[in-house]
Amino acid sequence: MSLRLNSEVCIPMIGLGTWQSPKGQVAEAVKEAISTGYRHIDGAYIYQNEKEVGEGIHQKIKEGVVKREDLFIVSKAGDENLPMDENELVIPSDTDFLDTWEAMENLVDEKLVKAIGVSNFNEDQINRILKKPCLKYKPAVNQIECHPYLTQEDLISYCHSNGIVVTAYSPLGSPARPWAKKDDPVLLQDPKLKRIACHHGKSTAQVLIRFQIQRGLVAIPKSVTKERIRENFKVLDFKLSDEEMKTIFSFNRNWRCCPMEWSIKHKDYPFK
Ligand code: NDP
Repeated sequence: MSLRLNSEVCIPMIGLGTWQSPKGQVAEAVKEAISTGYRHIDGAYIYQNEKEVGEGIHQKIKEGVVKREDLFIVSKAGDENLPMDENELVIPSDTDFLDTWEAMENLVDEKLVKAIGVSNFNEDQINRILKKPCLKYKPAVNQIECHPYLTQEDLISYCHSNGIVVTAYSPLGSPARPWAKKDDPVLLQDPKLKRIACHHGKSTAQVLIRFQIQRGLVAIPKSVTKERIRENFKVLDFKLSDEEMKTIFSFNRNWRCCPMEWSIKHKDYPFK
Protein backbone atom coordinates (compact mmCIF):
# COMPACT_ATOMS: atom_id res chain seq x y z
CA MET A 1 0.00 0.00 0.00
CA SER A 2 1.45 3.34 -0.99
CA LEU A 3 0.52 6.98 -1.54
CA ARG A 4 1.44 9.07 -4.56
CA LEU A 5 3.48 12.14 -3.64
CA ASN A 6 3.22 15.48 -5.44
CA SER A 7 6.65 14.68 -6.88
CA GLU A 8 4.98 11.71 -8.62
CA VAL A 9 6.92 9.02 -6.75
CA CYS A 10 5.05 6.73 -4.37
CA ILE A 11 5.69 6.37 -0.65
CA PRO A 12 4.90 3.01 0.97
CA MET A 13 2.48 3.55 3.86
CA ILE A 14 4.44 1.43 6.35
CA GLY A 15 8.10 2.19 6.94
CA LEU A 16 10.70 1.01 9.41
CA GLY A 17 11.82 3.65 11.93
CA THR A 18 15.49 3.56 12.93
CA TRP A 19 15.96 6.22 15.62
CA GLN A 20 17.73 4.59 18.59
CA SER A 21 18.27 1.37 16.64
CA PRO A 22 21.74 0.37 17.82
CA LYS A 23 24.50 0.10 15.25
CA GLY A 24 25.00 -3.56 16.07
CA GLN A 25 21.33 -4.42 15.47
CA VAL A 26 20.00 -2.06 12.84
CA ALA A 27 21.40 -3.83 9.76
CA GLU A 28 19.69 -7.06 10.85
CA ALA A 29 16.47 -5.13 11.52
CA VAL A 30 16.57 -3.57 8.06
CA LYS A 31 17.24 -6.96 6.46
CA GLU A 32 14.35 -8.52 8.37
CA ALA A 33 12.08 -5.64 7.37
CA ILE A 34 12.95 -5.94 3.68
CA SER A 35 12.43 -9.72 3.76
CA THR A 36 9.07 -9.10 5.43
CA GLY A 37 8.01 -6.73 2.65
CA TYR A 38 8.85 -3.26 3.98
CA ARG A 39 9.93 -0.99 1.12
CA HIS A 40 10.31 2.21 3.15
CA ILE A 41 13.11 2.83 5.64
CA ASP A 42 13.17 6.01 7.72
CA GLY A 43 16.56 7.28 8.77
CA ALA A 44 18.48 10.43 9.59
CA TYR A 45 22.10 11.52 9.73
CA ILE A 46 21.54 12.42 13.37
CA TYR A 47 20.57 8.83 14.29
CA GLN A 48 24.26 7.93 13.73
CA ASN A 49 23.44 4.57 12.19
CA GLU A 50 22.88 5.37 8.50
CA LYS A 51 26.00 3.43 7.49
CA GLU A 52 24.66 0.27 9.12
CA VAL A 53 21.16 0.90 7.69
CA GLY A 54 22.85 1.11 4.28
CA GLU A 55 24.70 -2.16 4.89
CA GLY A 56 21.41 -3.95 5.56
CA ILE A 57 19.91 -2.49 2.39
CA HIS A 58 22.95 -3.38 0.25
CA GLN A 59 22.92 -6.94 1.51
CA LYS A 60 19.27 -7.44 0.49
CA ILE A 61 19.91 -5.89 -2.92
CA LYS A 62 22.90 -8.18 -3.36
CA GLU A 63 20.77 -11.20 -2.46
CA GLY A 64 18.29 -10.15 -5.15
CA VAL A 65 15.45 -9.77 -2.62
CA VAL A 66 14.81 -6.17 -3.65
CA LYS A 67 15.93 -3.63 -6.22
CA ARG A 68 17.15 -0.19 -5.20
CA GLU A 69 14.44 1.49 -7.28
CA ASP A 70 11.77 -0.36 -5.28
CA LEU A 71 12.95 1.11 -1.98
CA PHE A 72 11.87 4.44 -0.52
CA ILE A 73 14.72 5.58 1.72
CA VAL A 74 14.30 8.67 3.86
CA SER A 75 17.12 10.73 5.28
CA LYS A 76 16.97 14.05 7.09
CA ALA A 77 19.17 17.11 7.17
CA GLY A 78 18.96 19.01 10.42
CA ASP A 79 20.60 22.07 11.85
CA GLU A 80 23.88 20.20 11.99
CA ASN A 81 26.28 20.91 9.11
CA LEU A 82 25.50 18.25 6.62
CA PRO A 83 27.54 17.59 3.51
CA MET A 84 24.79 16.43 1.19
CA ASP A 85 26.67 15.29 -1.90
CA GLU A 86 30.09 14.79 -3.35
CA ASN A 87 30.18 18.43 -4.45
CA GLU A 88 30.28 19.42 -0.80
CA LEU A 89 26.94 21.14 -0.75
CA VAL A 90 26.86 22.14 2.91
CA ILE A 91 24.03 23.73 4.80
CA PRO A 92 25.51 26.06 7.43
CA SER A 93 23.80 25.78 10.79
CA ASP A 94 22.70 29.42 10.92
CA THR A 95 20.86 29.17 7.61
CA ASP A 96 17.18 30.02 7.63
CA PHE A 97 14.93 27.10 6.77
CA LEU A 98 13.72 28.86 3.63
CA ASP A 99 17.31 28.91 2.29
CA THR A 100 17.64 25.29 3.32
CA TRP A 101 14.60 24.54 1.20
CA GLU A 102 16.34 26.01 -1.85
CA ALA A 103 19.39 23.84 -1.19
CA MET A 104 17.09 20.83 -1.08
CA GLU A 105 15.41 21.83 -4.32
CA ASN A 106 18.87 21.74 -5.92
CA LEU A 107 19.18 18.11 -4.86
CA VAL A 108 16.06 17.30 -6.89
CA ASP A 109 17.41 19.17 -9.90
CA GLU A 110 20.68 17.31 -9.60
CA LYS A 111 18.69 14.06 -9.42
CA LEU A 112 20.27 13.16 -6.10
CA VAL A 113 16.84 12.70 -4.49
CA LYS A 114 13.40 12.02 -5.90
CA ALA A 115 11.33 13.94 -3.38
CA ILE A 116 11.90 16.49 -0.64
CA GLY A 117 9.85 17.08 2.45
CA VAL A 118 9.87 18.63 5.89
CA SER A 119 9.56 17.37 9.43
CA ASN A 120 8.02 18.92 12.54
CA PHE A 121 6.76 21.86 10.51
CA ASN A 122 3.67 23.67 11.72
CA GLU A 123 1.08 25.24 9.43
CA ASP A 124 2.73 28.66 9.42
CA GLN A 125 6.14 27.21 8.52
CA ILE A 126 4.71 25.17 5.64
CA ASN A 127 2.83 28.21 4.47
CA ARG A 128 6.05 30.22 4.40
CA ILE A 129 7.56 27.66 2.03
CA LEU A 130 4.44 27.49 -0.14
CA LYS A 131 4.43 31.29 -0.45
CA LYS A 132 8.07 31.56 -1.52
CA PRO A 133 8.04 33.62 -4.73
CA CYS A 134 10.54 31.38 -6.50
CA LEU A 135 9.26 28.05 -5.14
CA LYS A 136 10.28 25.21 -7.45
CA TYR A 137 9.01 22.18 -5.52
CA LYS A 138 6.36 21.97 -2.83
CA PRO A 139 7.18 19.78 0.16
CA ALA A 140 6.05 16.25 -0.68
CA VAL A 141 5.78 15.12 2.94
CA ASN A 142 5.54 16.56 6.42
CA GLN A 143 6.80 14.03 8.98
CA ILE A 144 5.23 14.76 12.35
CA GLU A 145 4.56 13.05 15.64
CA CYS A 146 1.16 11.43 15.47
CA HIS A 147 -0.71 8.77 17.48
CA PRO A 148 -4.02 8.61 19.38
CA TYR A 149 -2.79 10.97 22.13
CA LEU A 150 -1.76 13.53 19.47
CA THR A 151 -4.11 13.14 16.54
CA GLN A 152 -3.08 16.37 14.76
CA GLU A 153 -6.35 16.75 12.78
CA ASP A 154 -5.90 20.44 11.92
CA LEU A 155 -2.31 20.20 10.72
CA ILE A 156 -3.03 17.03 8.76
CA SER A 157 -6.03 18.54 7.09
CA TYR A 158 -3.94 21.61 6.16
CA CYS A 159 -1.20 19.37 4.71
CA HIS A 160 -3.67 17.24 2.77
CA SER A 161 -5.46 20.27 1.36
CA ASN A 162 -2.08 21.36 -0.03
CA GLY A 163 -1.22 17.98 -1.51
CA ILE A 164 1.32 17.16 1.21
CA VAL A 165 1.43 13.59 2.51
CA VAL A 166 1.80 13.19 6.28
CA THR A 167 4.06 10.61 7.87
CA ALA A 168 3.26 9.72 11.48
CA TYR A 169 6.37 9.28 13.58
CA SER A 170 6.38 7.68 17.04
CA PRO A 171 3.14 5.90 16.08
CA LEU A 172 3.49 3.58 19.10
CA GLY A 173 4.10 6.44 21.53
CA SER A 174 7.89 6.05 21.51
CA PRO A 175 8.01 3.97 24.71
CA ALA A 176 11.84 3.90 24.82
CA ARG A 177 12.40 7.65 24.46
CA PRO A 178 15.20 8.63 26.85
CA TRP A 179 13.30 11.54 28.47
CA ALA A 180 10.18 9.52 29.39
CA LYS A 181 8.80 10.49 32.82
CA LYS A 182 7.26 8.14 35.34
CA ASP A 183 3.79 9.64 35.01
CA ASP A 184 3.71 9.93 31.22
CA PRO A 185 0.83 8.09 29.58
CA VAL A 186 1.83 4.79 27.94
CA LEU A 187 -0.02 4.36 24.67
CA LEU A 188 0.76 0.65 24.26
CA GLN A 189 -0.76 -0.01 27.70
CA ASP A 190 -3.98 1.93 27.13
CA PRO A 191 -6.80 -0.42 28.27
CA LYS A 192 -9.28 1.00 25.73
CA LEU A 193 -6.85 0.39 22.88
CA LYS A 194 -6.12 -3.06 24.24
CA ARG A 195 -9.87 -3.84 24.16
CA ILE A 196 -10.13 -2.80 20.51
CA ALA A 197 -7.05 -4.88 19.68
CA CYS A 198 -8.45 -7.89 21.52
CA HIS A 199 -11.73 -7.59 19.58
CA HIS A 200 -9.79 -7.97 16.31
CA GLY A 201 -7.36 -10.60 17.61
CA LYS A 202 -4.56 -8.12 16.98
CA SER A 203 -1.91 -6.45 19.14
CA THR A 204 -2.21 -2.88 20.40
CA ALA A 205 0.75 -1.94 18.17
CA GLN A 206 -1.10 -3.27 15.12
CA VAL A 207 -4.18 -1.21 15.99
CA LEU A 208 -2.01 1.90 16.38
CA ILE A 209 -0.44 1.39 12.95
CA ARG A 210 -3.72 0.46 11.30
CA PHE A 211 -5.32 3.61 12.76
CA GLN A 212 -2.80 5.77 10.90
CA ILE A 213 -2.88 4.07 7.54
CA GLN A 214 -6.68 3.88 7.63
CA ARG A 215 -6.80 7.67 7.95
CA GLY A 216 -4.47 8.06 4.99
CA LEU A 217 -1.17 8.61 6.77
CA VAL A 218 2.18 6.87 6.44
CA ALA A 219 3.39 5.20 9.68
CA ILE A 220 7.01 4.40 10.56
CA PRO A 221 7.11 2.17 13.67
CA LYS A 222 10.64 1.46 14.88
CA SER A 223 11.73 -1.96 16.03
CA VAL A 224 14.89 -4.03 16.14
CA THR A 225 12.94 -7.12 17.25
CA LYS A 226 12.28 -9.58 14.43
CA GLU A 227 8.83 -10.68 15.65
CA ARG A 228 7.72 -7.08 16.13
CA ILE A 229 9.03 -6.00 12.75
CA ARG A 230 6.84 -8.71 11.20
CA GLU A 231 3.90 -7.97 13.51
CA ASN A 232 3.95 -4.26 12.69
CA PHE A 233 3.65 -5.03 8.98
CA LYS A 234 0.60 -7.30 9.37
CA VAL A 235 -2.03 -4.59 9.48
CA LEU A 236 -3.76 -4.98 6.15
CA ASP A 237 -5.83 -8.02 7.07
CA PHE A 238 -8.28 -6.20 9.34
CA LYS A 239 -10.20 -2.96 9.39
CA LEU A 240 -11.21 -0.69 12.26
CA SER A 241 -14.90 0.23 12.15
CA ASP A 242 -15.96 3.87 11.81
CA GLU A 243 -17.07 3.71 15.43
CA GLU A 244 -13.64 2.41 16.53
CA MET A 245 -11.86 5.09 14.52
CA LYS A 246 -14.06 7.71 16.20
CA THR A 247 -13.32 6.25 19.63
CA ILE A 248 -9.57 6.26 18.97
CA PHE A 249 -9.70 9.89 17.78
CA SER A 250 -11.43 10.76 21.07
CA PHE A 251 -8.28 9.70 23.00
CA ASN A 252 -6.49 12.83 21.77
CA ARG A 253 -4.97 14.86 24.60
CA ASN A 254 -2.45 16.88 22.57
CA TRP A 255 0.34 15.06 24.36
CA ARG A 256 3.76 14.87 22.73
CA CYS A 257 6.34 12.19 23.37
CA CYS A 258 8.86 14.31 21.43
CA PRO A 259 8.34 17.92 22.57
CA MET A 260 11.98 18.70 21.66
CA GLU A 261 12.28 20.92 24.69
CA TRP A 262 15.97 21.50 24.05
CA SER A 263 15.02 23.79 21.17
CA ILE A 264 12.18 25.61 22.88
CA LYS A 265 14.04 28.93 22.65
CA HIS A 266 14.85 28.50 18.94
CA LYS A 267 13.10 31.12 16.81
CA ASP A 268 11.52 28.38 14.72
CA TYR A 269 10.41 26.13 17.61
CA PRO A 270 7.30 24.67 16.00
CA PHE A 271 5.13 23.44 18.90
CA LYS A 272 3.89 26.64 20.53
P1 NDP B 1 7.76 4.18 18.05
O1 NDP B 1 6.48 4.79 18.44
O2 NDP B 1 7.94 3.62 16.71
O3 NDP B 1 8.13 3.08 19.14
C1 NDP B 1 9.29 2.31 19.04
C2 NDP B 1 9.42 1.48 20.32
O4 NDP B 1 8.35 0.55 20.39
C3 NDP B 1 10.70 0.67 20.41
O5 NDP B 1 11.11 0.72 21.75
C4 NDP B 1 10.28 -0.73 20.01
O6 NDP B 1 11.06 -1.69 20.68
C5 NDP B 1 8.85 -0.78 20.49
N1 NDP B 1 7.99 -1.62 19.64
C6 NDP B 1 8.02 -1.71 18.29
N2 NDP B 1 7.09 -2.55 17.84
C7 NDP B 1 6.45 -3.02 18.94
C8 NDP B 1 5.39 -3.94 19.13
N3 NDP B 1 4.81 -4.54 18.08
N4 NDP B 1 4.98 -4.21 20.40
C9 NDP B 1 5.56 -3.58 21.45
N5 NDP B 1 6.57 -2.70 21.34
C10 NDP B 1 7.01 -2.42 20.09
O7 NDP B 1 8.89 5.27 18.39
P2 NDP B 1 9.94 6.17 17.64
O8 NDP B 1 10.01 7.42 18.43
O9 NDP B 1 11.17 5.39 17.40
O10 NDP B 1 9.28 6.58 16.25
C11 NDP B 1 9.38 5.81 15.07
C12 NDP B 1 10.35 6.41 14.07
O11 NDP B 1 9.93 7.72 13.69
C13 NDP B 1 11.76 6.64 14.61
O12 NDP B 1 12.47 5.45 14.78
C14 NDP B 1 12.29 7.57 13.57
O13 NDP B 1 12.64 6.87 12.40
C15 NDP B 1 11.09 8.49 13.36
N6 NDP B 1 11.11 9.69 14.23
C16 NDP B 1 11.24 10.93 13.61
C17 NDP B 1 11.31 12.07 14.38
C18 NDP B 1 11.44 13.39 13.70
O14 NDP B 1 11.67 14.40 14.40
N7 NDP B 1 11.29 13.48 12.40
C19 NDP B 1 11.26 12.04 15.85
C20 NDP B 1 11.05 10.70 16.39
C21 NDP B 1 10.98 9.60 15.59
P3 NDP B 1 12.16 -2.66 19.97
O15 NDP B 1 12.89 -1.87 18.94
O16 NDP B 1 13.00 -3.06 21.12
O17 NDP B 1 11.39 -3.81 19.38
